[in-house]
Amino acid sequence: MTVRVRIAPSPTGNLHIGTARTAVFNWLFARHEGGQFILRIEDTDEERSKPEFTENILSGLRWLGLDWDEGPFFQTQRLDLYRQAIQTLLDQGLAYRAYDTPTELDAMREAQKAKNQAPRYDNRHRDLTPEQQAAFEAEGRPAVIRFKIDDSRTITWTDLVRGPVTWQASDLGGDMVVARASSSTTIGQPLYNLAVVVDDIDMAITHVIRGEDHIANTAKQILLYEALEAAVPAFAHTPLILNQTGQKLSKRDGVTSISDFQNMGFVAPALANYMTLLGWSAPDAAEQFTLDQAAQQFSFDRVNKAGAKFDWDKLDWLNSQYLHSMEPAALLELTLPYLQAAGYAVDPEADQSWLLPMMTMLAPSLTRLTDVVEQSRFFFTETVDFADDAKTQVQLDGVEPVLAGILTGLTEQPPATIDDLKALVNEVTKAQGVKKGLVMKSMRAALMGALQGPDLMASWLILRQRGFDVARLKEALALI
Ligand code: GLU
Repeated sequence: MTVRVRIAPSPTGNLHIGTARTAVFNWLFARHEGGQFILRIEDTDEERSKPEFTENILSGLRWLGLDWDEGPFFQTQRLDLYRQAIQTLLDQGLAYRAYDTPTELDAMREAQKAKNQAPRYDNRHRDLTPEQQAAFEAEGRPAVIRFKIDDSRTITWTDLVRGPVTWQASDLGGDMVVARASSSTTIGQPLYNLAVVVDDIDMAITHVIRGEDHIANTAKQILLYEALEAAVPAFAHTPLILNQTGQKLSKRDGVTSISDFQNMGFVAPALANYMTLLGWSAPDAAEQFTLDQAAQQFSFDRVNKAGAKFDWDKLDWLNSQYLHSMEPAALLELTLPYLQAAGYAVDPEADQSWLLPMMTMLAPSLTRLTDVVEQSRFFFTETVDFADDAKTQVQLDGVEPVLAGILTGLTEQPPATIDDLKALVNEVTKAQGVKKGLVMKSMRAALMGALQGPDLMASWLILRQRGFDVARLKEALALI
């Protein structure tokens, strides 16, 4: 048997972290088994589905490296297939038209509530006589199509994550709607549970791997497989992603979509790596790996049942590991969009000679790609805004002759290497009879307009190349 799995996002929003993590587990399992990973876009909710969300989902999956073998298939292009299946259910007496009006359904629910009963459809139109049906039709009432659920059934399956799961059919809310209301001669819009089952049968899906919020759907869907006389696939329900307080991660937690993470400066391999750890652990306890490495070792017996807490510190740590090990040219390419978005005039071709050393210098201190924006700001502008403490530093007693001495040195014998710069610092330190620390700190304040920042000498050399250091020193001297 060839393993065939699928991810089936609804394009009613951007690619959600939960969906992406489910996609990761599907992909890992497919690759581990040498099987196929299929992409299906569940766009039957025509009001809420939008092409830009589909685009966001496809590009998010691609960005993460989750390549698919078949698809994307679109459910809106497959409506005939679902209607055929519904017709089969009707023909076999496994489904029926129900003519209840919204007002009648509301009244039914109110009565149930008054008796402290759980809301459910009481199957009142299951066995209408032909005369009753004809009367409803004569009234012009639209009908939904309901699939019969035998309340006496117990549904069981062995979940690959959760072990044996049992569900009482009587807890499924009564006969379920599989097609929205329409006139009595047509079949209305097919609904989620039916469409999913028809697709999973048609696409020969062997393992349905999805979030645990779908467990009740699985019970309903198993009944549909049986009714359609199809083999029931294996099911794996993956744990929810929780926030720090143990609640389901939601929009209120700031970010939920993969493009949010992208905008925040996370790199794809780090995010994919982190998502793998959200619910799975490697047999060798490794925390840093590529998707391919994880796929070699992936199995469901190492997927947790309990919800997976989202840990920003761990994601940041992983991201920094990836950034620190990256070649400067690759890092430059990845940070370029952020630098451009910040309005920096950056020409990657023309400015390689200083951009690459800048990246080499900054890489070890980066956690997110966006950190480059702040840390490199003073390389992109001819002048800087002086922070208060930097201003105070250059205004300290004895600093003026130091900066003036350096300025003279820069113009008289222009340094070209870090060693030249060091020699100049030593010379001025000696000539002024001051501590070297004072010279270094004052130079940092003068060149960067701040007392913190990247390596002073390497930064200085880059500013030399840019032709900015003389202007900065003059600016600093003007503050005194
Ligand atoms: N469209 C459903 C969702 O996004 C798919 C669930 C499934 O995998 O069956 O949650």
